[in-house]
Amino acid sequence: MRRRVPRTDALLREPRLAAAVERLGAGLVKTAVREAQQRAREGSVPVELVPETALALLPGSAGGLRPVINATGVLLHTNLGRAPLSAAARQAVAEAAGPTDVELDLTTGVRARRGRSALAALREGVPAAGAAHVVNNGAAALVLAATALAAGREIIVSRGEMVEIGDGFRLPDLLVSTGARLREVGTTNRTAPADYAAAVGPDTGFVLKVHPSNFRITGFTRSAEVVDLAGLGVPVVVDIGSGLLAPHPALPAEPDADTQLRAGAALVTASGDKLLGGPQCGLLLGREDLVAALARHPLARALRVDKLTLAALEATLTGPPTPTALALTADPDLLAARAARLAADLSAAGVDAEPVDSAATVGGGGGPGVTLPSAALSLPEPYAPVLRNGRVPVVGRLEAGRCLLDLRAVPPEDDERLAQAVREARAAVEGRT
Ligand SMILES: *Cc1c(COP(=O)(O)O)cnc(C)c1O
Repeated sequence: MRRRVPRTDALLREPRLAAAVERLGAGLVKTAVREAQQRAREGSVPVELVPETALALLPGSAGGLRPVINATGVLLHTNLGRAPLSAAARQAVAEAAGPTDVELDLTTGVRARRGRSALAALREGVPAAGAAHVVNNGAAALVLAATALAAGREIIVSRGEMVEIGDGFRLPDLLVSTGARLREVGTTNRTAPADYAAAVGPDTGFVLKVHPSNFRITGFTRSAEVVDLAGLGVPVVVDIGSGLLAPHPALPAEPDADTQLRAGAALVTASGDKLLGGPQCGLLLGREDLVAALARHPLARALRVDKLTLAALEATLTGPPTPTALALTADPDLLAARAARLAADLSAAGVDAEPVDSAATVGGGGGPGVTLPSAALSLPEPYAPVLRNGRVPVVGRLEAGRCLLDLRAVPPEDDERLAQAVREARAAVEGRT
């Protein structure tokens, strides 16, 4: 006679599953237990292996987000959460998770400025900034600037900079939603300093320069530089998008906060989770009086960041180079050597794997048009969905009928996990073909 599938309450008393209830909560463990029982009833799992099966089905954490390996070759992949945090930032987040001194001076016992040390680190990174403020993301930084400085008034912006960032998010719509009016100047391909000058008037809140961060206009083009606009008698706000604080040698065309402020910008807005390599947040850097006005505005409270973000941001700024910075400057020869080694290991395990040259991109609103020489592991196309759905999900990209796992955004210490994921995918792929 067939052995009976163990009951749920008995399984939940099994020591390893009981420990999992402590760690993950009863709901997730029960879901895994029910799935394991179902497999046993269907005969795909032996009855005595139900506890092991349930344990294997448990998620790594109670959070629904699953860590993945980004082998897309897009360094800042929006769908994969943009910049991965450095080990230093992850540790800072873990430490800030409990009660912290985010708004308390421990020496005096008196309330202190929220996030003061993160703001100090930011100002140290941007010497030209008189002050800094942090909000939830780049869009929030723009909303706060537009609301505090131009609600009911005009924002002057070039027609060539009325951009859509992605997923239908259009900057002009966002700005207009604050009650500011947009005064468009110039044309799609050409806008001169004189176009701005002619539009400035008593109703001007500020002049806005937006970095076209995900496209390039080439050919018969012209655009005004900040230095040409700084003398117009109204603040110049520059949305650099990518969050570089200082120039980066690998991305000479990418604007940075310090240079824009030195050129005369009154305020720079940027994202924290793009090229800065930090947590999602929005940076506001610039003139002390303007930053103070923004920070005091009632809307600032609705856009303020939590302690986890402040902790991650500060550790990003003061800690070792971020994963994004390391990926950006990775040596193509070393990437090729890693691809060759992985391909050799996997070929020896019977996988149709070969090392190939590849081209990575910055993505996520940085370095439009820039390609970074890279190296990839090339696998048969059917690996793509299997790898995505594996125990450790790996996201690659399809190119010319092959699944490429680009190594530029994969930290070298993840190579073994990547190889293991491919080995685990092999059985499913071969079963299919
Ligand atoms: C990315 C980007 C934004 C939006 O920033 P979020 O942090 O995604 O809100 C705004 N402007 C530019 C130029 C960008 O590149």
